[in-house]
Amino acid sequence: MPARKKLLILAGDGIGPEVMAQVRRVIAWFDRFRVVSFGVVEGLVGGASFDAHGTPLTEETLADAKAADAVLLGAVGGPKWDGLPFESKPERGLLRLRKEMALFANLRPAIVFESMAEAAALRPELVRGLDIMIVRELIGGIYFGEPRGIEELPDGSRRGVNTQVYTTEEIRRVARVAFEIAGKRTGKVCSVDKANVMESGVLWREEVQSLRDEEFPDIALTHMYADNCAMQLVREPKQFDVIVTDNMFGDILSDEAAMLTGSLGMLPSASLGAASGKGYRPALYEPVHGSAPDIVGKNLANPLAAFLSFAMMLRHSFALGDEAELVETAVGNVLAGGMRTADILQPGTAKVSTLVMGDAVLRELGKLTA
Ligand code: NAD
Repeated sequence: MPARKKLLILAGDGIGPEVMAQVRRVIAWFDRFRVVSFGVVEGLVGGASFDAHGTPLTEETLADAKAADAVLLGAVGGPKWDGLPFESKPERGLLRLRKEMALFANLRPAIVFESMAEAAALRPELVRGLDIMIVRELIGGIYFGEPRGIEELPDGSRRGVNTQVYTTEEIRRVARVAFEIAGKRTGKVCSVDKANVMESGVLWREEVQSLRDEEFPDIALTHMYADNCAMQLVREPKQFDVIVTDNMFGDILSDEAAMLTGSLGMLPSASLGAASGKGYRPALYEPVHGSAPDIVGKNLANPLAAFLSFAMMLRHSFALGDEAELVETAVGNVLAGGMRTADILQPGTAKVSTLVMGDAVLRELGKLTA
């Protein structure tokens, strides 16, 4: 039997606990029927942690996260905590978790399930079969660079400053993640920068290219300016396989790519740190959506992004690609069968609750492994 994997579940706020309750059912199914099993520890994060402990992330939870093989997070935030000072806000808990775990690579897939092609923002033929992975640098660049701030000038006007800054090491470690992922896909990486107008972009391009030449000769690497990439994503998205880019461009391009797929309730993500010698890599998996205060407690939340985040965990933390595919296929089959939560309802499909969607995916997992 493979070792029992240690998971920390941080369900968080709003619909976080509702979708994570469904993920727990899938975990229990894996424990019962598959070769991998999980030891689950639960913790609080965000507003739930603030209410219980006066902080959005306790030292104990942080220690649990660092001790786990992987962390699964639901969502944080909500109007209840909007008035809190900046340092106590629920989102600070998540940001601190990412920073303390040094999760520098954010993976955002944009996948269009066959039966969802009609629901996408672009013409179906442009997105049918789409499968892009955006690898975004997450803890460097202009969102963190110094100097930063707003200062007053002698004439009484003000100046806002942020600094785009990247080192060789910061660029190469995220490019390495992109090359490794591409090696398990079609072997194509497009690196995105603004080397035409930014020195940090020139360095980005040179370092990504030299890492490819030194260590990943089989990867087909191309480079693209970020503005062109934004355009190409809506013109001909299927030209891309893996895109690697910096923090700010990745922030924008991954949201753009997400909209190619239809719904927020379908989008998973992973954030990875550096692999240690023994193969361990700190990792956090979470749906892209937030806590959806408008639908909380109504059994309306779409749990598919949370299921697909769990599948990403199987693939990227535990090298269980076949098991990940099993979950993804189950989700695809349920969608093909015409079941939809309210957020992805289309003409001719049946509206179901969070719980019924969970039932359907579990039933499909059973069928696929019968
Ligand atoms: P949101 O993602 O929570 O909701 C946007 C819209 O999408 C809402 O109408 C919501 O009902 C719908 N939606 C989102 N997820 C859904 C799902 N799984 N199923 C069905 N419908 C879904 O974004 P928001 O409204 O901008 O933010 C609400 C709160 O969430 C804020 O406090 C924000 O800070 C927080 N937030 C947290 C995260 C995170 O935890 N990573 C991400 C984004 C926003």
